[in-house]
Amino acid sequence: MPDVVIIGGGPAGSTLASYLSMAGIDNIIIEGANHPRPHVGESMVTSTTRVFEEIGFLETMEREGFVKKYGASWHAPQRKGVFTIEFGEFPQPGIDQDYTYHVDRSKLDLLLLKHAESLGTKIYQGQYVQEVLMKDGKAVGVRINSFGEPVDIKAKIVVDASGRHTLLGKQLGLKRPDPDFNQFAVHAWFENVDKSIGKRDDDIHIYFLTCERGWVWQIPITDEITSIGVVAEKEVFKQSKQDVESYFNTHIATNPNLKNAMENAVRVNDFKKEADYSYSMEKFVGDGFLCVGDAARFVDPIFSSGVSVALASAKYASEQIVKAMEKGDFSEAAFKPYETKLRSGVSVWYEFIRLYYKLLPSFTHFIQSKKHRLEVLQLLQGEVFDRQDVPVLDAMRKFIKDVEQNDKHILRNALTDLELPDVAAAQEIST
Ligand SMILES: Cc1cc2nc3c(=O)[nH]c(=O)nc-3n(C[C@H](O)[C@H](O)[C@H](O)COP(=O)(O)OP(=O)(O)OC[C@H]3O[C@@H](n4cnc5c(N)ncnc54)[C@H](O)[C@@H]3O)c2cc1C
Repeated sequence: MPDVVIIGGGPAGSTLASYLSMAGIDNIIIEGANHPRPHVGESMVTSTTRVFEEIGFLETMEREGFVKKYGASWHAPQRKGVFTIEFGEFPQPGIDQDYTYHVDRSKLDLLLLKHAESLGTKIYQGQYVQEVLMKDGKAVGVRINSFGEPVDIKAKIVVDASGRHTLLGKQLGLKRPDPDFNQFAVHAWFENVDKSIGKRDDDIHIYFLTCERGWVWQIPITDEITSIGVVAEKEVFKQSKQDVESYFNTHIATNPNLKNAMENAVRVNDFKKEADYSYSMEKFVGDGFLCVGDAARFVDPIFSSGVSVALASAKYASEQIVKAMEKGDFSEAAFKPYETKLRSGVSVWYEFIRLYYKLLPSFTHFIQSKKHRLEVLQLLQGEVFDRQDVPVLDAMRKFIKDVEQNDKHILRNALTDLELPDVAAAQEIST
């Protein structure tokens, strides 16, 4: 019987497994798919570097030649205007490089899984976990289906790293959809995208759209291949009554810079859709279990936060699991510090995202302001954990309030309907 059984071998599962194996804790991963398998989420933020280094994976990232990401560029809607940030403007403690990576997730996720295996984790692929076994309210193992026969695998601790499948959250009825965000994304890979439009070809390029919470990502996967994704409220897609391809092309044509970039683009794989992806589990831990990565919480991907949150959650969960193993205490209370830490970090992302969508020009204003630029940059690097306060979010909130209270403000019409609760209530919602 392993000490820990991990459901899912995405970035969260493989990273957690690596930390546990390094700590000498016996663990297995049960992964439903057979890697390599495709996955959305191809651009990272620099805080991931710290985790890659800790688990001894940074060398692999360098060796495999992933596209280096030095910054991000945003393109205004309906007019030609680009503004950019560079990660190197603000050195991050404990990180020696001023770039992160864009990745083909099928390659990254396979490499991470293999890395965990090389550290001692046992990997079982092509086996979907059917359910988590519960006894007196405590997780005690998992059930898989092997050639039509149910097989039970017992463990001291069960970790749900099943991503947006949220196996345990669904089983225990813990999943709460986000009250405000209901985004829908359509994406595919293209050749011949003209990436010369901004300062740096290999930035992530974000193009603002005029529709509700609409934007497009442009992520270089290799020199030849570029991932393009259109994101908007699901309602925008529904009301368009278009098929996926026409919907995609309609939105590409609305931003002049994007239209130019895509002029000679040729699609090289099928369109994929992603929907209903903003939610939180009511709790991330319970007796005998923890949820990590997307299996715990998912916030809108506008700032490429997902993989960094998955890796950080794996790191913090591993710390609590090590302590639990030392004490032999696998109770909800023993795992709670992990939940508290993850919640407070992700709530910083969430608040940042809400302010961004409430008044888009406030983001461009703050990122260009001498006073606040570095603080915004710090958030965009993924430095959201262990923060006592985040003054730039207070400043953004105040800026937006001033616009709301002034009928004649030049940005007044740019305000969206998204409610911004006061600070205390914001904390409440973001959990
Ligand atoms: C539209 C969109 C755009 C995004 N863009 C970005 C981006 O640019 N940058 C970024 O960092 N993040 C992005 N993300 C988020 C990113 O995809 C996720 O945050 C990240 O993949 C989370 O990793 P994970 O390991 O938690 O889950 P996953 O990567 O989903 O891994 C979960 C694994 O569990 C396996 N699994 C599921 N159910 C079972 C089961 N029952 N039994 C066994 N195995 C199972 C799956 O096969 C999978 O391999 C985006 C997300 C969306 C929706």
